[in-house]
Amino acid sequence: MPPATTASTGSSAVQAPPPDSARAKIVARYQGVRPTSWGTDVPGVITRLPTRDAVLALTFDACGGPHGSGCDAGLIRLLRKRSVPATLFVNERWIQANRKEFADLAADPLFEIGNHGTRHVPLSLSGRSAYNIAGTRDAGEVYDEIAGNLDTLTRLLGKPPRYFRSGTAHYDEVATKIVTDLGERAIGFDINGDQGATLVPDQVEHAVCAARPGSIVIGHFNHPEGGTARGMAAAIRRLSGSGLRFVHLSDYI
Ligand SMILES: [Zn+2]
Repeated sequence: MPPATTASTGSSAVQAPPPDSARAKIVARYQGVRPTSWGTDVPGVITRLPTRDAVLALTFDACGGPHGSGCDAGLIRLLRKRSVPATLFVNERWIQANRKEFADLAADPLFEIGNHGTRHVPLSLSGRSAYNIAGTRDAGEVYDEIAGNLDTLTRLLGKPPRYFRSGTAHYDEVATKIVTDLGERAIGFDINGDQGATLVPDQVEHAVCAARPGSIVIGHFNHPEGGTARGMAAAIRRLSGSGLRFVHLSDYI
């Protein structure tokens, strides 16, 4: 049943809220623009640190919702024990399910926090999908996916996060421009460390140890039941022993 209508009271009538002008600007700017690339490594996505220094960046995602809202305390403990810095990409639904854990991680300078989206969907202007997850369908939805959690993180952190990684890490090249328009950098990876936390420890160790200077490694910290923490423990030992140093994305990007 629709709500009862009330008589207009002239200038005191309740006005509709103003449209989100930032969103409207993005929608207008990308009207009719057709993307031509799709994947994890398209123009606009940073997949490696721009350096030849003997460094690499570990990044861990927390995808939330049906993609896992756990918190891998063992992995966090490991990083703290070894004083290994990392960038943690958190989805808004994961934050909602882990308020205390989020506050604890955000307060620790060992970790920097990135935006892992609002609904955790691939970032597309045309509804492309990845791993059977339907992506955003237009520029407005791209804006919503970035800006929803960007607002939440800005409120919680007291400043906007500098980095964004889409759910599934898939983008088209136009969507990466909208990430930039909203003041963030689109981050990918060149080393897939745990394949969505599906690998056993030996596989994680093997995958991560393929890192070379400048690598950005992706893993997950929302699946404590997975092999990520144990595999990372071995990989960190070996990579440290080979002279590689772990850095934040913000040290180089
Ligand atoms: Zn994710």
